[in-house]
Amino acid sequence: MDKPVYRAWFQSIHDPSERFSLDEVVYKASDGSLLEVVHDLEALGETSAESWKKLFRERSHATEWPYGSGVWGKKEWVLPGVDNENVVSMYEGHSNLFWADRYGRQLGIEDLWIKQCGNSHTGSFKDLGMTVLVSMVKEMISEGKAIPAVGCASTGDTSAALSAYAAAANIPAVVFLPRGKVSVAQLIQPVSNGAIVFALDTDFDGCMEIVREISDRDGIYLANSMNSLRIEGQKTVGIEICEQFDWEVPDWIVMPGGNLGNVSALAKGLDMAFDLGLIGRRPRIICAQAESANPLYLSYLKDFEVFEPIAARPTLATAIQIGNPVSIDKAIAALRRYDGIVEQASESEIADACARADRTGLFNCPHTGVALAAMEKMIRRGEIRKGERVVVVSTAHGLKFTDFKVKYHEMNLEGIGSEYPNPAIELPARYEDVRDEMMRQIERRFRS
Ligand SMILES: *Cc1c(COP(=O)(O)O)cnc(C)c1O
Repeated sequence: MDKPVYRAWFQSIHDPSERFSLDEVVYKASDGSLLEVVHDLEALGETSAESWKKLFRERSHATEWPYGSGVWGKKEWVLPGVDNENVVSMYEGHSNLFWADRYGRQLGIEDLWIKQCGNSHTGSFKDLGMTVLVSMVKEMISEGKAIPAVGCASTGDTSAALSAYAAAANIPAVVFLPRGKVSVAQLIQPVSNGAIVFALDTDFDGCMEIVREISDRDGIYLANSMNSLRIEGQKTVGIEICEQFDWEVPDWIVMPGGNLGNVSALAKGLDMAFDLGLIGRRPRIICAQAESANPLYLSYLKDFEVFEPIAARPTLATAIQIGNPVSIDKAIAALRRYDGIVEQASESEIADACARADRTGLFNCPHTGVALAAMEKMIRRGEIRKGERVVVVSTAHGLKFTDFKVKYHEMNLEGIGSEYPNPAIELPARYEDVRDEMMRQIERRFRS
């Protein structure tokens, strides 16, 4: 029997008759709504669920390019048409599921796991989507399309991922950052990878306006999350979580949300696994927002019947300080399908949840802290129960966000009380003093 031909195309989320080829430079439908990548499920369904599982498992241990990547191991489900020669991969995905045994017990649950998406090439889940987008761009360039560069507006993780993948593929990258509003760690990744880095006198939205104009007028390929190619890579996270539990579906998956591409992607991947029979039920999804940037939460309180953009206020979770999320329609549809819940967390809840979990061996970024804080609240309210399996998606590595941790432990975070501070102890180098203080500290830690 011939191998089925797997096809995928861009489709308007509001009008299924409006379709584009994946190698067209197009970001939105004619009515301005987002596009999504749609796959020919019938062709994919000709292979049995068991055969897909076996294939995915075999590839995860293989070295054959590019299938050892967590994203490209599922190539037929992600971007079937791209030539393997044009795939730009850093073997992203397959990130660890951390069994948060001690932290979970402290909270009164026993089956808590953290999906460590920050343990990745550039330190955030953005790698999962960027490998797909940059591979498509490489394919388009190889077909002779005139794409002078790829570009994005960003405050950190998106520009880091774009810069790394573009550098590996020898494609020029342009990133637009708000001047003075990004940390050293966030600035230095694109700088090191040789991207053209602009620090503009504006905020994120101002950068977004510039990159859209540049993309419209000068043909720079737009890599922000309205580009639905990224969703195709990011959607592997939910499939991979189920795979790591030998296709048992957890009860809850918790994830922070800003522009809401990632929560839409999580649901999209789970949809495919469900529709193709690899999983037999759907988990419930909790999307967590910072109180300072909570437009989805406010809409949730009104059963998603209305949505109003807000002006997001500063938050420790800088990557989700977004008041008018691009993927709002996709996210609301996803949460409806997954009996979803939206919860919010205050700045001190975020900081304390990070610190409490860090004490048990993790090292959380503030966005992960938003998800942890939301989960803690739901456990306290009895909405998440003891026997249930909970997976929290950690979106970035804590090492990218050390400033707030330093301040937290020095008890220097404005307006935040630091419930779990652990500042370094400064003493003269004298044995007796050091020993006495050490004994006091050991004693204190034993008691707590
Ligand atoms: C991008 C990002 C998010 C938010 O993802 P959205 O798709 O915008 O909701 C959360 N955490 C980190 C670390 C990020 O980089």
